[in-house]
Amino acid sequence: MSALWRPAYVAIGSNLNEPQARVLEAFERLAVLPTTRSVLRSRLYRTRPMGPQDQPYFVNAVAGLLTQLGARELLEGLLRTEQAMGRNRQERWGPRVIDLDLVWMLGEAIDEPGLTVPHPGVSTRNFVLYPLADIAPALAIPGHGTVSEMLRSAGDDGISILD
Ligand code: ADP
Ligand code: MG
Repeated sequence: MSALWRPAYVAIGSNLNEPQARVLEAFERLAVLPTTRSVLRSRLYRTRPMGPQDQPYFVNAVAGLLTQLGARELLEGLLRTEQAMGRNRQERWGPRVIDLDLVWMLGEAIDEPGLTVPHPGVSTRNFVLYPLADIAPALAIPGHGTVSEMLRSAGDDGISILD
């Protein structure tokens, strides 16, 4: 008997080593995580970096997955994928070849060291909200309203569609 397939959204970001290609690579890698399917891909966005400004612009996107993994197992898969793609963790909000954040997963409300779901940055970060709105505008985050509503207050500062 197989486990339930649950929807989950993963935010993807890169600003090193040809970021657009790295985001597309991340989509491919997410699709082959164990017991996981990639169902939806947002558009790609060019976004101004958060924090230190002396680093390249980011490319951001969001993937919509269906998975039998639990949130902790999925996070492990994301961290392994980051490592496989050559990420080495350095300064906070500094440049990175790939960043994979679990934004939301059906039925999961977790707040523990190493894993917070829904991701606490989602309600204010337009570089997450814009791509998320492409594939899940009606998704509601408890205490924050829907993605469409959060997007209206986050605004479009520093973000444009990558063509
Ligand atoms: P950030 O994404 O905030 O720039 P990192 O990618 O360096 O930071 O992640 C640091 C840690 O954040 C990870 O080791 C992971 O344990 C933790 N973390 C907590 N909640 C989440 C989440 N929802 N998705 C991804 N990582 C998370
Ligand atoms: Mg991260």
